[in-house]
Amino acid sequence: MATKAAMSEQIVIIGAGQAGAQAAQSARQAGFAGRILMFGDEAEPPYQRPPLSKAYLQGDLDIDRLYLRPAAFYEQQKIELRHGVRISAIDPAAKTIAAAGGETIGYDKLLIATGAPPRRLTCQGADLAGVHYLRTIADSDALRPVLAKKGRIVIVGAGYIGLEVAASARKAGLDVTVLEMADRPLARVAGKEISDFYEALHRAHGVDLRLGAALDHFEGAKGRVTAAALKSGETIPCMAALVGVGAAPSTALAETADLRIANGVWTDEHARTSDPSIYAAGDCASHPSAIYERRLRLESVPNAIEQGKVAGVNMTGGNAVYDAAPWFWSDQYDVKLQTVGVSEGAEERIVRGSPEQRKFSVWYLQRGRLLAVDAVNDPAAFAVSKRLVAAKSSPDAKILADPAADLKSLLP
Ligand code: FAD
Repeated sequence: MATKAAMSEQIVIIGAGQAGAQAAQSARQAGFAGRILMFGDEAEPPYQRPPLSKAYLQGDLDIDRLYLRPAAFYEQQKIELRHGVRISAIDPAAKTIAAAGGETIGYDKLLIATGAPPRRLTCQGADLAGVHYLRTIADSDALRPVLAKKGRIVIVGAGYIGLEVAASARKAGLDVTVLEMADRPLARVAGKEISDFYEALHRAHGVDLRLGAALDHFEGAKGRVTAAALKSGETIPCMAALVGVGAAPSTALAETADLRIANGVWTDEHARTSDPSIYAAGDCASHPSAIYERRLRLESVPNAIEQGKVAGVNMTGGNAVYDAAPWFWSDQYDVKLQTVGVSEGAEERIVRGSPEQRKFSVWYLQRGRLLAVDAVNDPAAFAVSKRLVAAKSSPDAKILADPAADLKSLLP
């Protein structure tokens, strides 16, 4: 419950995305009766991003279904949503923020939930028309007409966004080339078995997947991209390109307040930054994970929701702790990947089930302890693994490897 002192306070949220919207809602649910102001620099009210590379991009989902809440919700909850307003600075001594238009707004508690925009290329031709990035509704809207055309799209980066757009583009009938510098797709986030599976999946769907292939620059004519030139000297003609080479935490505002930065805005387990009146949540923030005993910065909807909740409750005087097991999903073609945990540091991988039958899971272990699981079309394995990872379990490897053995027998 909110403390009495908090009732007359003013909560200000910068970033009207998944984490910001959750924090506002959770602050109200905790009984906060003061003013809540939420600023977002996009034109739309808070919305979910996952469909931007999937159903929405494919034209299978209406824009209204993207919005996290109907407009009436913010009115009912007395959450003053100011979208289309960019915040340019924080003054922690005066406890004010400055909007780009010049307005100054005071806060008692402030949340930074500014997300992680895509890393941009700086090579020659990177600013040609037809070179796309994907983070916002506006980005997805710009890409949708491309999918209605004929011809080739070159996708730079075989991470989740690159591969999801590749699947959407193939579904729309485009020719697709994916360029990946590493020797396997998803190399940064998944083990070899998962990479091999997705490589085969995309090739089976006709994607021209180039591994160990580095983009040098884009070529263009009349201001539009016409080809991707590789460092090898090869040139791949294309009518459009999509760059998916990762995202960088948006920390510029936090830096104006001299907040501690550590791969994103530093927070403690209560989502509090190095300034006790300022909180941070979502893609822009890093937090100490008790599960992994190190600092993590996650880019996922579940992280934005759970950390947003903790920030929202704690801004009202609560003492919630954020330590959920990380999880994530990705949909490509008719394949659903669900992942739990962080596999970095794993020394052993156990494959359960059959990649050929498109239902399997990979269990990542470090000295017997389960760090993470990638489950392909296997929601049962995902459900069990969530609990095992959260409990820092060291499950019996024989049971993991035997698809006939009951995974639930591993639960405490
Ligand atoms: P955001 O939702 O990005 O919100 C931050 C907001 O702050 C943005 O609107 C930004 O414009 C605004 N902002 C930034 N600076 C300022 C400023 N100075 N003033 C005002 N406003 C500002 N996750 C999954 O778990 N599963 C998926 O399948 C999945 N698919 C995805 C597909 C795509 C195409 C993308 C882009 C992301 C996907 N994600 C997925 C990731 C997920 O959407 C993000 O992790 C999540 O949106 C993070 O929420 P957030 O609130 O931290 O940031």
